[in-house]
Amino acid sequence: MQLYDTLSREKKELPSPETYPIITFYACGPTVYDDTHIGHMRRYMMDDVLKRSLKFMGYDVQHVMNITDVGHLTGDDDSGEDKLEKGAKKQGKTVWDVAKEYEEQFWLTMKVLNVHKEDITVLHATKCIDDMIEIIKKLEAKGHTYQTDEALYFDVTTFPDYGKLSGQKLEDKIQGARDDVRIDTQKKHPADFALWFKRVGRFADHTMHWESPWGDGFPGWHIECSAMSMKGLRAETIDIHTGGIDHIPVHHENEIAQSEGATGKEFVKYWVHHAFLQVDGQKMSKSKQNFYSLKDIEAKGIDPLALRYLFLQTHYRKPMNFTWEAVQSADNSLKGLRAQLAHVNESSTDVSNEYTKRAKEYLADDLNTAQMVALLHEVTKSNLDDQSKTDTIMTLDSVLGLDLDRAFVAESIPDMVTKLAEKRKEARKANDFTASDILRDKINASGYEIEDHTSGYVIKKK
Ligand code: AMP
Ligand code: ZN
Repeated sequence: MQLYDTLSREKKELPSPETYPIITFYACGPTVYDDTHIGHMRRYMMDDVLKRSLKFMGYDVQHVMNITDVGHLTGDDDSGEDKLEKGAKKQGKTVWDVAKEYEEQFWLTMKVLNVHKEDITVLHATKCIDDMIEIIKKLEAKGHTYQTDEALYFDVTTFPDYGKLSGQKLEDKIQGARDDVRIDTQKKHPADFALWFKRVGRFADHTMHWESPWGDGFPGWHIECSAMSMKGLRAETIDIHTGGIDHIPVHHENEIAQSEGATGKEFVKYWVHHAFLQVDGQKMSKSKQNFYSLKDIEAKGIDPLALRYLFLQTHYRKPMNFTWEAVQSADNSLKGLRAQLAHVNESSTDVSNEYTKRAKEYLADDLNTAQMVALLHEVTKSNLDDQSKTDTIMTLDSVLGLDLDRAFVAESIPDMVTKLAEKRKEARKANDFTASDILRDKINASGYEIEDHTSGYVIKKK
């Protein structure tokens, strides 16, 4: 299997599951201070597909994700306020309540999207402070840090590889830094970043704070991921690390400097970065007010899994423009697929045939999910008998997570009705519209209605 690695800028082969059976996988999690929007959904759903794909290819996966509930400032360059504190002030709630509420919303959204939470080890930043302090101590002992009145910083000039992920040189960072960004006048280099903020100055009233060798305060956001990935995966080098492309120039650059600075070992073997969901060419985000949430999808009567179908159609490294027409059409295609499965009895997954072999080839090519979707449709049109068709589709769906058997379970459309629908499909294929109309009337008379879509028909109870 090959995955594109941002650091080496090429698709890199993973060792085979026979020789390397366990993959360690760390995902930068959400900062839980605001609503989860469908841009976040694209990113975490694709992580879920990556994990399912690795399992399908024969690996065991250890998946760790953090929840950032402290330390993430509004500016990536240590400027601004803590996002949690800001959210709490705005909503007149405590930071702890805000974190709890938005984390619950996040997981609820993930569940609806069929993201498997059960096999994710979830670590909360506020519960791993000691682990962060331990790494910071190591960095201090190795001469990577310095203190000012306000914070303890990582000194980027002590890490010659700084910038290797994004390909930016330190000199360019100095030139690019705006004067007003240097909030702490004792900070030496604009790219230096806080490992520990002291509870003084702009943070004198910070609600969340802990004792540390550098005074009462709270950790910086970047150190969280270094500490939690190593803690959760019990490894200093991890296989796969994912995040949005926005994390490449600062957050992940800083994670590398801290982790490799502390351990002297390579931190990550495969850096996987997800492109954004956009609206009219702009990143979907809270600040741009161009976002939609799960509620908006449900309010339009669209199955949330249609989003999954929609996202699968675009490669994770390509930006994707969100439109209602596209999600509506994904909803129709999904219903069409489900309806075609609706008439088959029990399915047994884990089949192996020409189609599942091809599925492995597509996934092995840096997760070509669009080909997987096309393959689903190909199987429905294939010469396989109904049972094999269902079994094959459900095997593919174990990776895609579209719940394609849901219609069968939830609606259990009578055999007689699906037979009429199949006959009608044949009649339409043969351009026999008189027969097709008669069959539609029969379906209606049985208490069901049929909708035609380009990808197939949908049978619904009236
Ligand atoms: P945040 O809570 O804003 O830090 O975002 C959490 C994760 O979601 C990060 O990995 C972001 O890169 C990702 N993300 C935020 N907005 C989008 C978007 N519009 N499309 C895809 N991913 C996004
Ligand atoms: Zn992170």
